[in-house]
Amino acid sequence: MHYLDHAATTPVPKAVADRMYDILTGQFGNPSAQYPMGRDAAALVEDCRATIAAVLRCKAAALVFTSCGTESNNWAIRSAVWHSRHTGKHIITTAVEHSAVLEPLKALAQEGYEVTYLKPDNRGSITARQVFDALREDTVLVSVMLVNNETGCIFPVEEIARGLRERKSRALLHCDAVQGFLKVPCAPADWGVDLMSLSAHKIGGPKGIGALYVNPSLRSFRPLLYGGGQERGLRSGTEATAQIAGFAKAVELRMDHLTEKLAHMAALKAYCRTKLLTIPGMETVSDGTAPHILCMSLPGYPSANIVTDLGEQGVCISAGSACHKGKASHVITAMGLPKRTAAGVIRISFGPETTREDIDALFEALKSHQANRFPML
Ligand code: PLP
Repeated sequence: MHYLDHAATTPVPKAVADRMYDILTGQFGNPSAQYPMGRDAAALVEDCRATIAAVLRCKAAALVFTSCGTESNNWAIRSAVWHSRHTGKHIITTAVEHSAVLEPLKALAQEGYEVTYLKPDNRGSITARQVFDALREDTVLVSVMLVNNETGCIFPVEEIARGLRERKSRALLHCDAVQGFLKVPCAPADWGVDLMSLSAHKIGGPKGIGALYVNPSLRSFRPLLYGGGQERGLRSGTEATAQIAGFAKAVELRMDHLTEKLAHMAALKAYCRTKLLTIPGMETVSDGTAPHILCMSLPGYPSANIVTDLGEQGVCISAGSACHKGKASHVITAMGLPKRTAAGVIRISFGPETTREDIDALFEALKSHQANRFPML
């Protein structure tokens, strides 16, 4: 099997699984329990928080564990607008955010919020200037992702944060960094981002665990869940100790020779692009520079058919985001690509484990797909 869908999810290294097993079977205490096993579990959670925070260069207390990136996004958005409820009802985002941002914003629009959706250019880019031009007195939230999950475009979050400060905007800045974390520079506290969403399963961690960075200066940030007061009262519920430990272990593993790992992914991406472009008709869709995501199109060959056919040949890629299930992606639609190009978009995404053989297998599978299918008009 050739797995080239690391933007959808990643394999969990054995060291991460082993760590989780040890916690599940040995150190399974409840972090709230008042005996040594409980206190050890609480200390473990804090160690893991510190490990992840060190990588983000933020205070450990600024990180709150959640169940996934989707939860972090929903919470960030809901609580940000509640936080600024007396300031206004205008929100700025991009038309190419993940549905975990767009859907909560759609719900807010139904509740009377006005949402400005910034359009990307035809290569998928968004500029900070677009955000500043859309900014108003009553803007309460700007939500811009760090790396787009379909195109690999890196958005200028640091520049946006700086510009909001310079303009003395009262808007909070949320960043969905689920695809950016450990792929591109990511430093919410240094940049002045208020809220940042993370997810473990995109970096070799388990599914079911994420985090939200909450700027410590946001006092009385609205909790997500009320209950036993875990996570400093912001997200009650017994801490998922094994998942948290798996998240931290995955971060540690990725951090080991991270520069080399990213260079490896970027080199494979370049190799893949060059090789696929030798297939007649193949196009590069975006200039996205994140090292792990390549967006190409085989115009005239519907991507859903490509993905299914390649899957049967043992090659896993995706038609844009894994969340679309065959429907034309809102990202590609927003880029305004010609219909045949849009219909043939495929996303190939890489991890540290990816090899040239995986890409050669993809190349052969795509050539065989093209040879055996009639293109649509
Ligand atoms: N945001 C982006 C950019 C993503 O790519 C994804 C997952 O594909 C998510 C959010 C959702 O993360 P999770 O799967 O952890 O809910």
